Amino acid sequence: MNIDSIKNGVVIDHISAGRAMTLYRLLDLDGLGVPVAIITNAVSGKKGTKDIIKIDADIDVDLDVIGYVDPGATVSIIKDGLVAEKKKMQLPKTLKNVLKCKNPRCITTTEQELPHVFRLTDAESRTYRCIYCETKAT
Ligand code: ZN
Repeated sequence: MNIDSIKNGVVIDHISAGRAMTLYRLLDLDGLGVPVAIITNAVSGKKGTKDIIKIDADIDVDLDVIGYVDPGATVSIIKDGLVAEKKKMQLPKTLKNVLKCKNPRCITTTEQELPHVFRLTDAESRTYRCIYCETKAT
């Protein structure tokens, strides 16, 4: 695929250098079976280096996941070779089924059908806690 000429897809830009693989994993891009290009340590004027993920497929990405991994990232939706929409990320207030609670006594360990929900409790330190048992996400 020609990574510079995506016709319909998603470009996640301005990812802090080194975070692209985390994002790739959490977005489950591997499991989607669509063409994905990951560019790491691209030269960026303001921030030094950055990572970029280009997805050559018209899919919905979970913006909460991107905002969680890197609130400084931008997401461009490409339609017919043009940027149809550009979105700025922010830290999501809640995260559903992105993180798993590590507390063995948490109700989510026994009640398998419960969604894993984490709430942002401190934006400054980016602290998320399980809504059931208050365990801090790591
Ligand atoms: Zn929990």
